Amino acid sequence: MKKIVVILAAGLGKRVGEDLPKQWILIHGKPIIEYTIAVFHANPQIDEISVVLSPDFAGKLGDYIDLEQYPKIKAQIEGGKERYESTLAALNYYKDVSEAHILFHDAARPLITTEVVSRVLSALQDYKAVLTAIPSADTIVEVDSNKEVAHYPNRSEVYRAQTPQGFHLSVIREAFRLALLDSQKKVTDDCSLVHYYLPQIPIKVVEGASENFKITYPEDIVFFEDYITKQGNQ
Ligand code: C5P
Repeated sequence: MKKIVVILAAGLGKRVGEDLPKQWILIHGKPIIEYTIAVFHANPQIDEISVVLSPDFAGKLGDYIDLEQYPKIKAQIEGGKERYESTLAALNYYKDVSEAHILFHDAARPLITTEVVSRVLSALQDYKAVLTAIPSADTIVEVDSNKEVAHYPNRSEVYRAQTPQGFHLSVIREAFRLALLDSQKKVTDDCSLVHYYLPQIPIKVVEGASENFKITYPEDIVFFEDYITKQGNQ
């Protein structure tokens, strides 16, 4: 089965406080998105990569990274305002492919590891939807509309979702088809659509990694830069 990775990079990422969306910030001379792409590109199990970009960047990936180094990049797709619209744009791009194993990954998670990617791909042999997640080190509380504690979920049953999230293409396509028919649609991440709209499909959870965090705030950029600096010094 063909294995495709979609890197979602159409967000504006303003919380890091820079003018440029976070995935384009240069760290040691390379944009963050290139670190993310490089991990998947180096993985022999991955056949093809496509990148979803905002209208300002669509078709311009080659201005930021040397595409000759990444021949597995087959498409630059224009994304949407909301993250799910960016996933949908990728699904539309692959509309003529009847089946594949497709992984969706946030460009803003550059410290994704080959081990995590392998866990997702292996689980896709037995499951049609796979979520990467890590156990929550913190106690999680649910609050009500008054911001008063409503519920303490059992910590051993609470995980923090990450990406990549992997699917049989036909399954995520069907989940999106059903979601688009629903005017009240609930979307938090790609797996949530399978959970809400195809509840009969079990979603396997595989272990992510703490370093596979999503760059969101200015201090995350500092952490990432230090991490890369240390790796370079080893
Ligand atoms: O905004 P957030 O950090 O949750 O975005 C996660 C990932 O999804 C980022 O890599 C971002 O570029 C991408 N995204 C996207 N299209 C959007 C919003 C976010 O591709 N409309």
